[in-house]
Amino acid sequence: MMLAIMPSMDAKDETGPRRRLIPTGDCWCGCGQETELGKFFRSGHDKIAEAAVIRVEYGTVPEFLVKHGYGPGGRNPRDELGRVRENQR
Ligand SMILES: [Zn+2]
Repeated sequence: MMLAIMPSMDAKDETGPRRRLIPTGDCWCGCGQETELGKFFRSGHDKIAEAAVIRVEYGTVPEFLVKHGYGPGGRNPRDELGRVRENQR
């Protein structure tokens, strides 16, 4: 599987320029299956990949949240999502 990543000048997030990701035709969860044209994942496999990376890199979802400044006494995930959606209008 080859990753095709190109820099994008028009999109930024809080950590710097975002990379424009291009689907490769293979599912990015690592299952080795092919995807539909223009898709990164087979159906439902995005959640498998997400859960796997959180488990491997952080242990649990609470640890993942706290590591990024969320949780009790920190940022509110729902409020932050609302703010992002408002900015994308
Ligand atoms: Zn997959």
